Amino acid sequence: MYCPSCERNAALEIEEAEVMNWEFDGQDSVEVEIHMLFACSECQEALAEYSGTSTEEVPKLAEYLDEHEDADASEGKLSAPEVETKIITRAGVKTYLAKWKADFKLGRKTFKVNGEVAANQATMEKMS
Ligand SMILES: [Zn+2]
Repeated sequence: MYCPSCERNAALEIEEAEVMNWEFDGQDSVEVEIHMLFACSECQEALAEYSGTSTEEVPKLAEYLDEHEDADASEGKLSAPEVETKIITRAGVKTYLAKWKADFKLGRKTFKVNGEVAANQATMEKMS
């Protein structure tokens, strides 16, 4: 992406990936909203941003609820997601990932939930 400070095309790095919101829908899914900030890898000027939402089913929760009729999913507690960033090539396109993981606790049982928000230069928004 063109960097006005360096006056040339520069590689991007993920400056920040912040969890803006996280929520359990009360039934079986978790929704996580992440805001990403991309900066010039040479001068660290912020060049673009991206906001994405990731929805994932809680693995094995449906089976658990089938087996435990007294369990109520709406009483479950979702921990604040932890985020890890990574730059990969996906289908030939440089892709900027914010991978999240969170714990969903229901009674004494903990379910691990994972997801990701992915951006590339075509989907991110340039800062003006
Ligand atoms: Zn720069």
